[in-house]
Amino acid sequence: MRTRFAPSPTGPLHLGHAYSAILAHDMARACGGEFLLRIEDIDQGRARPEWEDLISEDLAWLGLTWDGPVLRQSERLPAYSDALDRLWSAGLLFPCACSRRDIAEAASAPQEGAPIGPDGIIYPGTCRPSFPRSGPRPLDANLRLDMARAATDPVRFTETGCRLDEIAVPPEALISGTGDIVLARRDMGTSYHLSVVVDDAAQGITHVTRGEDLFEATPIHVLLQRLLGLPTPVYHHHRLIRDARGKRLAKRDDAKAIRTYREGGATPADIRRMVGLG
Ligand code: GLU
Repeated sequence: MRTRFAPSPTGPLHLGHAYSAILAHDMARACGGEFLLRIEDIDQGRARPEWEDLISEDLAWLGLTWDGPVLRQSERLPAYSDALDRLWSAGLLFPCACSRRDIAEAASAPQEGAPIGPDGIIYPGTCRPSFPRSGPRPLDANLRLDMARAATDPVRFTETGCRLDEIAVPPEALISGTGDIVLARRDMGTSYHLSVVVDDAAQGITHVTRGEDLFEATPIHVLLQRLLGLPTPVYHHHRLIRDARGKRLAKRDDAKAIRTYREGGATPADIRRMVGLG
């Protein structure tokens, strides 16, 4: 078995990240498996090398060791491009010129407000063509997945960890509840969803441990695995670590940063206790 921790270097790791990393690490070590580190830095406008250095320092301080070299997503653009070419050739992508504002305006019915999916407002279909696309893949546009063409059968995966469950998501739920999500952002040449799927397969990940805030993203990933002929790992969506008021921790909650605890004299055992693993 092989797990991974895949942080984005856009801020300090906080208690929630520590929880996720420790869970994945300890599970791998308990099973004689491997624990890999992947730096999800496709958003080059927000990623910073100093945050990446701090991630390694925090993990090492927590006593977590990772196997093999660190995979950096900013170095993987050719692999993402190949995957996009395949989806494009299969007629599953279309270029979209809509701005956020165009989408908000087109999507919201006057009284109800716009329906929201895992990536925000569900795309109202403005640029979705009714004919198959042909020609080379456009490189200077956002590319969206044509969900009605892509999701033809239920998407299935195994949820493990606290409960064992076979999850099946019907195509209609993906079409109406997720919609035509962006798979290649014009400014990045990829997206979170596409990169995660390509890299989990490239790294041979068998178990994905991530926060339950990503539960809605997982069916998208399993669908992409199917479209690209990649294996589907087992998933464990763990509870989120919240602050005293019950609010989920965010990158900007510097007060809960591992570094802050570290500099304040806490020990790795204290951190384990704080997240309920002590
Ligand atoms: N990079 C994502 C994050 O920091 C997590 C990726 C994943 O587990 O798929 O939230």
